[in-house]
Amino acid sequence: MVSCCLICSSKAVLTKDVANAAVMMIGTITSFLRGIRDVPADPPIIDDEDLLERVARGVASFLAGHTETLAFATDLQKYQFNGYGCLCLRCGAQFDQAACLIPT
Ligand SMILES: [Zn+2]
Repeated sequence: MVSCCLICSSKAVLTKDVANAAVMMIGTITSFLRGIRDVPADPPIIDDEDLLERVARGVASFLAGHTETLAFATDLQKYQFNGYGCLCLRCGAQFDQAACLIPT
């Protein structure tokens, strides 16, 4: 089953669950990379201990940013989906998925 927009028939429809997953994935990766980037790169050769330290800092950064990412996901659902399950990326229409499923 593929969702399409009720207004413009576009298949560029984002569901609330997919949007939430994308926000969480981007937030997690961003926080992790921010954590490993903040470790000084001296010496330039990375040994096992340095690698583990970078991973630990990345995980700590993810945990620190997790609340911010959750708040962003909540705002996305509140303001972009406005209680509906689907958002058309072409025309901006909001609607529930059950009303727009088409067989493939
Ligand atoms: Zn549309």
